[in-house]
Amino acid sequence: MLEKIVQGKSLETWFNEFPKLREVYDLKEVLWINDKYESIKSKTSFEPSMDDILDAMNRLGRFASYIKVAFPVTRESDGIIESELFEIEMMKNDLAKKVNMDLEGRLFIKGDHALPISGSIKARGGIYEVLKHAEDLAISHGLLKEGMDYSAFDSEEFRALFSQHSIAVGSTGNLGLSIGIISARLGFKVYVHMSSDAKKWKKDLLRSKGVTVIEYESDYSKAVEEGRKQSELDDKMYFVDDENSVNLFLGYAVAALRLSKQLKDMNIAVDSEHPLFVYLPCGVGGGPGGVAYGLKLIFGDNVHCFFAEPTHSPCMLIGMMTSLHDKVSVQDFDIDNKTAADGLAVGRPSGFVGKILENLLSGVYSVTDENLFIMLSDLADLEEIYLEPSALAGVKGIVHMHSEEAKGYIEKNNLADKMKDSVHIVWATGGSMVPEAEMKLYYETGDKLRK
Ligand SMILES: *Cc1c(COP(=O)(O)O)cnc(C)c1O
Repeated sequence: MLEKIVQGKSLETWFNEFPKLREVYDLKEVLWINDKYESIKSKTSFEPSMDDILDAMNRLGRFASYIKVAFPVTRESDGIIESELFEIEMMKNDLAKKVNMDLEGRLFIKGDHALPISGSIKARGGIYEVLKHAEDLAISHGLLKEGMDYSAFDSEEFRALFSQHSIAVGSTGNLGLSIGIISARLGFKVYVHMSSDAKKWKKDLLRSKGVTVIEYESDYSKAVEEGRKQSELDDKMYFVDDENSVNLFLGYAVAALRLSKQLKDMNIAVDSEHPLFVYLPCGVGGGPGGVAYGLKLIFGDNVHCFFAEPTHSPCMLIGMMTSLHDKVSVQDFDIDNKTAADGLAVGRPSGFVGKILENLLSGVYSVTDENLFIMLSDLADLEEIYLEPSALAGVKGIVHMHSEEAKGYIEKNNLADKMKDSVHIVWATGGSMVPEAEMKLYYETGDKLRK
């Protein structure tokens, strides 16, 4: 087995070069600290830039009047798709008790599981990219005039234009859900290529909205490939490329600007004396990558971003550790990419995101499915927050930061005496749209495992 060759080297050689990779191969939970992590001050140019992120935020602002009429659930937030930030102290105390450690700092959750319209972090990037495309089309066809109110997108005239165009996407579920819902509402024809992980209720919901759902027996990479192929044959079909799209990335990055304001409003300081740690569940990398990138541009060295992946789908972990990025898949290392965390069931990471974050990401850790389920039930009991399995991956981050493995990172970045004033944010990426019966099964699975 270990003679298997990956990119010209045997697994044994890879393991000797990266000892942690052997643990990843053995499906152990690991914390990997990025040895290429650098102070942001060593970076001179930023591509995409802060102006690009601001441009995305302004575009979402222009579309707010449309979102508000098209999706009445957003009336209260004036058409802005945003989630709350709240403290989860009981969960923190419970985590501390379980590992028998004092966990310094405050623990918060960013509630993207409850984002309106599609109930996951994909309501950021996914919806943004479709709106951007709709705006581009409306401009190039002369429908959108200077100073026009964007509620015009909810008119027969605009729908007539969009009905001549189509949108395609490949997804493990949630991206398809977001793209499908917004595109169908605008009047586009939509094709969602779903991997075998995608849940039946998501496919049913999409079909009920007139979306064409195409199913595959294979995993996410195949679904994306097929979507890409389909759109190449049709010049009126736009492909939302989860592996490479800068627009998706920018839509996600807007979250950083919004979070920064929320922290200010809640009087939570982030500065050289008050470090911020953010733990983001990672699939292909676009969602967590966009958020982390935006946060680094805003908070610089005062924010420390970590990605979290299932032990069976550690694609970004392997891609970053070996610097092979999208040239390698978890299957190359005999890892099966089978996980109950369907939103994270991705075997090959985005090369684009891995490279952008090469020196900005602090590290990646992995979590077993069993622990995801246990945390799911714990969080439900202690905080009455119901998440889907993928969304729990960030919860263990604060424990990792207090472990032996993290000591080197804490010291190198002069954080030891600041941990008492640290702020930790778990990015809760999905869950509010999971049907009740399904959620009950998740809860019971976790409940059984913890007994
Ligand atoms: C998609 C998704 C993620 C990760 O986003 P990527 O862009 O695939 O890395 C995390 N959690 C949930 C629930 C998701 O649906």
